[in-house]
Amino acid sequence: MGVRVAVNGFGTIGKRVADAVAKQPDMELVGVTKTRPSFEGRRAVEKGYPLYLAGNGDRAAFEAARLPVAGTLAELLSEVDIVVDATPDGVGRQNRALYESANLPVVYQGGEKADVAEVSFCALGNYAACRGKRSLRVVSCNTTGIARAASVLEPRWGVEHWEVTLVRRAGDPAETNRGPVNGIMPTFRLPSHHGPDVNTIFPDLPIATTAVVVPTTLMHVHVNHVRFRRPPGDAVEILDAFRATPRFHVFAEWEHVDGTPQVMEYARDRGIGFNDMMENVLWENGLRLDGRDAYFFQAIHQESIVVPENVDAIRAMLDLVPDGPTSIARTDRALGLGASPITTRPTEGPAMAHRRRGRATLK
Ligand code: NAD
Repeated sequence: MGVRVAVNGFGTIGKRVADAVAKQPDMELVGVTKTRPSFEGRRAVEKGYPLYLAGNGDRAAFEAARLPVAGTLAELLSEVDIVVDATPDGVGRQNRALYESANLPVVYQGGEKADVAEVSFCALGNYAACRGKRSLRVVSCNTTGIARAASVLEPRWGVEHWEVTLVRRAGDPAETNRGPVNGIMPTFRLPSHHGPDVNTIFPDLPIATTAVVVPTTLMHVHVNHVRFRRPPGDAVEILDAFRATPRFHVFAEWEHVDGTPQVMEYARDRGIGFNDMMENVLWENGLRLDGRDAYFFQAIHQESIVVPENVDAIRAMLDLVPDGPTSIARTDRALGLGASPITTRPTEGPAMAHRRRGRATLK
């Protein structure tokens, strides 16, 4: 028996968070909600998750589909210690009064504006500041990815300036209403909203972001240019810092991962979650240091990167463990993240020694 959790909204994020919660040793998934019968509701029942009616959900429609309904959202809320709202953008805010009247702590998602919750959350970024809060907002997939990277770079080398160009996926694989798309669509808000959103976690980080949307459903890719105040000795130091941090996955050059298709193929081979890639993905040969300037790519699996963050947000709010690293380790162990016996750190050989002596760059 752990803390009792409800997940309201059982779509792309909600179904993943529900699975992740169900796997945690200190949490119990009490129920999930659907507004209408669907294959996802069927999967909830097949997995043994009690299904509750949310929104304008019609019980008769569920009965006609022979999907058993355990009760209403209000009933679910009366049975739990905390609720994760994973409803579509803006619906979380509409639900706020409901959660307040049930006197429940709430985890919101990044599609809500920052002021929906007391604090915005990224486990590696600001876990300590979020302990004991009554409401948190897990920032969006892109913001989570940048905030995680900032938590590695800023404390070690100090960021003087950071520019990110976000190459964003047009829609999630199941979002047929967003495609097909044949185009590259600039986001005509310059800079884009992602930089200010990162500043909800790191208020003083000097970051500017711009974005384009491209016709893919697999992942986002961030093209980063960071200028450090106190630069590292070489690129290997930066890669080692990422490798040593949970929720980063660095592909070695010898793995021949040319882009997001192979990243997702690796994720399907690995079979964690819904064949997800919950870590920030970097490439050993996709990072370069020139003096104080680092350039690197990172790929973000939009459907899953926020999933472990939701689990940690629950622990932070209910103060279940003393600190962020303890929560991150527990979450990741339960999810099977970071369990590979293979380290992709190159062994020190002539090439590496040359790199260390030389221009401090990889490739
Ligand atoms: P989604 O549309 O896939 O899932 C939302 C689910 O909520 C659907 O099953 C929908 O039927 C259900 N729903 C609709 N109205 C409801 C209501 N009133 N009560 C309960 N359930 C209701 O959306 P998503 O992609 O999972 O996004 C959820 C949140 O997560 C949003 O804030 C979004 O911005 C954020 N987010 C999404 C992604 C992503 O790439 N999909 C990444 C990070 C964060």
